[in-house]
Amino acid sequence: MICYIGLGSNLSEPSVQLQNALDSIKKEPELQLLKVSSFYQSKALVLSDAPPQNDYINAAAMLETVLTAEQILQRLHKIEAAQGRERNEKWGARTLDLDILLYGESKIQTETLTIPHAQLQYRNFVIHPLFEIAGAIDIPGLGDLFAIAAKMSWDALNKLNKYTHAL
Ligand code: ATP
Ligand code: CA
Ligand code: CA
Repeated sequence: MICYIGLGSNLSEPSVQLQNALDSIKKEPELQLLKVSSFYQSKALVLSDAPPQNDYINAAAMLETVLTAEQILQRLHKIEAAQGRERNEKWGARTLDLDILLYGESKIQTETLTIPHAQLQYRNFVIHPLFEIAGAIDIPGLGDLFAIAAKMSWDALNKLNKYTHAL
């Protein structure tokens, strides 16, 4: 199964956090890292009454896996925890956030998982990295990613360096 994930960090050297997460994914025998997008810098999403936060670094990655979506989520949570992720307030600053964006062409809705990711179509820091590596794929329930990306703004989003580590 092909699975796309989103990576984000805005604490403790965000791009290093992303590199470390990608290295951990590479070490998981049941996850094959096939592609990684460039890194992108974005302004933090904050709730209206919350204090400002550091900018984020975001990226998307394409994995091949035999695992179920639920099993992937567990591996991702393990990697987040290993990099010091704490869950405090909603949309709080974090060392690492790993979300499942797409799992093949599946639509999944359970207590713990919504796939495609529920906020996917609203977030330029998800759509642009995803489109960079996935191209014009069909997103279940949303349609052609090319059309979604073409309409998506670049407000407060900056494409940074290419990911240079060997896959
Ligand atoms: P957002 O969902 O707005 O990006 P977040 O990433 O900050 O918010 P978290 O605190 O990281 O939210 O995750 C809360 C819960 O969301 C997770 O424990 C997980 O069960 C659930 N969840 C639902 N769908 C997904 C998904 N596609 N990928 C990752 N987690 C998901
Ligand atoms: Ca998230
Ligand atoms: Ca998350």
